[in-house]
Amino acid sequence: MNDGKEITPNRIDEIISAEIPDIEIDKDLHDIVSKNMIHCPCGSLNNNSLCMLDRKCTKRYPRDLLAETITGNDGYLLYRRRSTEDGGKSIALKVLNNTIHVDNRSTPYSPLLLKTYNAHINVEYCNSQ
Ligand SMILES: [Zn+2]
Repeated sequence: MNDGKEITPNRIDEIISAEIPDIEIDKDLHDIVSKNMIHCPCGSLNNNSLCMLDRKCTKRYPRDLLAETITGNDGYLLYRRRSTEDGGKSIALKVLNNTIHVDNRSTPYSPLLLKTYNAHINVEYCNSQ
């Protein structure tokens, strides 16, 4: 039952985003996310990344793309991560002298915290009932 205290997917999208900001709408946020909040490409793109263990990313990147944020009954949630075909953005990053295109599989961040502190800040939504 939703007693009004439970957070809804729309409100989560305002607080935490897993999508690359639109450079046309918010260039500052786009630049901060590009610089600080993209999980360094790993896996087949970069097996030497620090997050790699036994040829797997220990932080579970890249995550699956998802059209809408989903709140699970167990308190965990999956952030909206639209594909580029569905209006999601991508950015070009230089990795080991290659230019690769990173999409919404590689970050969550808090727009408000980033704009306040202009730094790398990890976020994860927690729900206690
Ligand atoms: Zn990784």
